[in-house]
Amino acid sequence: MEIVVSGIRPTGNLHLGNYFGAVKNFLQMQNEYNCFFFIADWHSLTTHPKPNDLSANVSKIMAEYLACGLDPDKAAIYVQSDVKEILELYLYLNMNAYLGELQRVTSFKDKARKQPDNVNAGLLTYPTLMAADIIIHKAQKVPVGRDQEQNMEITRRFARRFNMIYETDLFPEPESYTPAESVKVPGLDGSGKMGKSEGNAIYLIDDPETIRKKVMKAVTDSGPTQQNSEKPEVIENLFTLLKIVSSADTYEFFNEKYNSCAIRYGDLKKQLAEDIINFTEPIRDRILGIASDKEYMQRVANEGAEKARESASATMKEVRKLIGFK
Ligand code: AMP
Repeated sequence: MEIVVSGIRPTGNLHLGNYFGAVKNFLQMQNEYNCFFFIADWHSLTTHPKPNDLSANVSKIMAEYLACGLDPDKAAIYVQSDVKEILELYLYLNMNAYLGELQRVTSFKDKARKQPDNVNAGLLTYPTLMAADIIIHKAQKVPVGRDQEQNMEITRRFARRFNMIYETDLFPEPESYTPAESVKVPGLDGSGKMGKSEGNAIYLIDDPETIRKKVMKAVTDSGPTQQNSEKPEVIENLFTLLKIVSSADTYEFFNEKYNSCAIRYGDLKKQLAEDIINFTEPIRDRILGIASDKEYMQRVANEGAEKARESASATMKEVRKLIGFK
C-alpha cells in the first residue's frame, strides 16, 4: 500500500474551509493508503509559542481532527515531538543542506520579511525538518497545497541527494498529491477564500448562535434586476456555501429565486445558517467530548507514536549504517 505523510499545523481551530479542503481528503486517504498524520509541534516553535499554549494547541487540534473522523485504527496519528528519530534525520539532512538553497526558499523569504526580529535558524531549516518528516516513512505521496510545492521540491532534492551521496535507493521521491475533488470554500465577506487570518471563517467549534450571527452579517448586494443574470462574487460565494452544506433541493430553490429576481437574501442566510449548524453541531459535540477525555487522547497519541516510531526507527537503522555509524 502506498505511504502518505501529512503534517497538521497546531494553530487555531478548524474552520469549514479546512474541513472541506483538507480534512475530507484525510478521511478519504486513510481508507486508501497507509497514512501517517502528525501534529507538527516542532515546526510551530519557529514562532516561539508560550509553553502552556504549545501543548494546549496540540490537544485542541488533535481533538478536532479525531472529532472529524480521523481514525487511529486506520492511520498513525501522532505528535511530531514524540518521534525523536525525526530529529536525528533532520540533523543528517542538514549536513547536506546548503545555506544558499535554503535562503532562496520563497516561504523562508516571506517569513523573514514578516518577522524580521525573529529570523531564526529553525525558520531557515524548516524545509529540512519537513523533508525529514516525510522521508523518514519513505512516503510516496504528500497531500499539500500549492504554497508547499517548493518545499516538496526540496524534499525530493534532499532524498535524491542522500541516495546519491550514499549510493542507495533508500528514499523514494515523494510526490505532491491533490485528491481530485478539492473544493475551495469561500469566506463570508465576499473576498475569496475562507481563512483564519482573513477573519471570515466559521469554525467547527462555533456554537449555533455565533454561526447565525456570522452568516447573517455576510456581505450581499442589492439583488438581481435582470432574470438569469450572472451572480457577482459575493453572492456566488453564498451559493457555493449552500452547495457545500445544504441539500440539492435547497440550492435549487434559492437559485431559482435568484434567477427570477425574487430572492430574499435574509431567507437564504437563515437557511444557510441552519444548514451549517446541522453540519457542524454533531462535530462540535464530538470535539467537546473528546477534548474532555484526556485519557483517550493520550491513548491515541501513544498508539500513533508507537506506529510512527516503528516505521521511523526501521528507516533510521538503515540511515545510520549508510552514513557509517557502526
Ligand atoms: P490553514 O488553516 O491555512 O493552515 O490551512 C490548512 C489547509 O486547509 C490548507 O492546506 C488547505 O488544504 C485547507 N484550506 C484552508 N482554507 C481553505 C478554504 N477556504 N477552502 C479549501 N481548503 C482550505
